[in-house]
Amino acid sequence: MADQNLRERFPEANLKLDDNQLRVVEKRANLKAYRDGETIIAAGTRDPNFYVVKSGEVDVVEYSAGRPQIIWTSYAKELLGDVSFLSGRASNLSRVAKGPVEVFEILPENLRRIIDEEPKLGNIILATLIGRMQIMRDLNFTPLRVIGSRFSSDAFRIRDFLTKNRVVFTWVDLEGDSNAAQVLQQIGVAEEDTPVVACGKDWILRNPGNKELAERLGVLTTPKEDIYDLAIVGAGPAGLTAAVYGASEGLRTIVLERTAPGGQAGTSSRIENYPGFPMGLSGEELAARITLQAQKFGAQISTPCGVRSLSFDDGYPVIHIDDDRRVSSKCLLIATGASYRRLNIEGGERFDGVGVYYAATPMESQMCADSTVLVVGGANSAGQAAVFLAERASSVLLVIRGDDLNKGMSRYLSRRIEQTKNIDILTNTEVTQMAGNTHLESVEIRDNRSGKTRLVNTSAVFVFIGAKPHTDWLPEGVDTDEKGFIKTGPSVRDSPFWTIRRQPFFLETSRPGVFAAGDVRSSSMKRVASAVGEGAMAVAFVHEYFKN
Ligand SMILES: Cc1cc2nc3c(=O)[nH]c(=O)nc-3n(C[C@H](O)[C@H](O)[C@H](O)COP(=O)(O)OP(=O)(O)OC[C@H]3O[C@@H](n4cnc5c(N)ncnc54)[C@H](O)[C@@H]3O)c2cc1C
Repeated sequence: MADQNLRERFPEANLKLDDNQLRVVEKRANLKAYRDGETIIAAGTRDPNFYVVKSGEVDVVEYSAGRPQIIWTSYAKELLGDVSFLSGRASNLSRVAKGPVEVFEILPENLRRIIDEEPKLGNIILATLIGRMQIMRDLNFTPLRVIGSRFSSDAFRIRDFLTKNRVVFTWVDLEGDSNAAQVLQQIGVAEEDTPVVACGKDWILRNPGNKELAERLGVLTTPKEDIYDLAIVGAGPAGLTAAVYGASEGLRTIVLERTAPGGQAGTSSRIENYPGFPMGLSGEELAARITLQAQKFGAQISTPCGVRSLSFDDGYPVIHIDDDRRVSSKCLLIATGASYRRLNIEGGERFDGVGVYYAATPMESQMCADSTVLVVGGANSAGQAAVFLAERASSVLLVIRGDDLNKGMSRYLSRRIEQTKNIDILTNTEVTQMAGNTHLESVEIRDNRSGKTRLVNTSAVFVFIGAKPHTDWLPEGVDTDEKGFIKTGPSVRDSPFWTIRRQPFFLETSRPGVFAAGDVRSSSMKRVASAVGEGAMAVAFVHEYFKN
């Protein structure tokens, strides 16, 4: 039954190859035979190979309910597997032979060749993988549970990390879930030992760090080679796009990302001004698609992999990663973007993750059901957050320092806000204090015209004010402006560090061969489309650099 429903709802997840396509596959594959009940791919293992069913049937099995459940069956000429084949992650579904089965096993390098040389077949493979990605997201098939308090900043960090890495999990909230105590008892964990991450009965991690979690879930991808043509730091829209262009144009390309692909855009509930998507699309979906595209062309994307510092060896950039490893490259693209500044309120940072948030995704919105929330900021990101949160919260107070919403926000968005009944716009207003014990309970706001203050009882404030560039890891020699954004092109021509005769390229920094793109760059537009454009342009300059 589940099988039939899934086939109807996600037809693109089960496309069949035609005979010609099957012959192409056959040429690049090993034929393997399995007996009834034999496991072809086991859940939780990383299998780098790709499979196509030649004959017989294969059950796809998941274990979220603690026992095996067949969710669909793959037939002859259909593909086995999901997006983990390209990302190198472990799949959480098993594939088990139903009766005698023959499958074509394709090694990763041959799969890439097939995708490159047979675009139609490549498209079928990618469409199937995207379809299956949607199934996993929509149906929430997962044995993974995060159990903790909604007021714990570590529980927030863990959920944020899993969400950004698109790992599906079930959230068990100690305050809001009546089964929470029973779940803890079943796995033998005391409430004071939460947050915990539990995978069925197989393993339990008590308050794991992001890296430990990533390792356990097969999400950690580490750099494989020592020297690359192009190293990109940051996997937001700019870095990911550069990876697509770099890898597709034959450059050995690596992306180093400290959290998860997507960057700021990945936290946007709906991007409505990205060309080609008239209905808008979520930042998460955009990021997932560009990531898949970059991996299709063979770019390595290493996460979580924070870059600590940069040095130069014989003129070549050497990138130092958090765990003391290094990556060397002929060219470097800095695409580390920016993040929102904290409110300048004494002690405000103690509520980070337990009342103060810098993104409004479905995860944060769950916590706002039927309550009053504050959104601080007057630009598009604040506007989007207000509209999105208004769907769940009983009321949203949009706090802006200026006197007119239209000054910093696109007209389509300000109009929508004005038309949303449960959003109140508080102009000329600032947050002056925050209070609470273990989590935020109230904030004080001040009307700057009258000087009057008032207290608002709320457990959530969303902050979207002025951006701070991620440039603190850069050495002297990469010039920045007075706000820390990286200077490029004509503005570094007179830098003491620009020591060669030719003029710097438009996106080149004061160090030849080091480029910057997207929000981290001084005078950039701070938009998804412009970050994408700059990521693509940067690769053209990399080619120019190699010619010189
Ligand atoms: C909530 C929200 C909504 C938005 N909505 C829109 C919209 O509707 N339309 C629009 O055009 N724009 C929108 N924007 C702006 C848009 O998202 C940004 O302009 C765009 O994401 C910039 O892309 P980027 O690649 O330059 O940087 P970012 O998206 O900031 O990505 C930078 C990446 O670098 C990583 N990084 C940083 N430092 C390091 C380090 N030391 N080591 C490794 N990795 C590092 C970060 O983790 C991050 O993933 C929105 C922004 C936000 C926050």
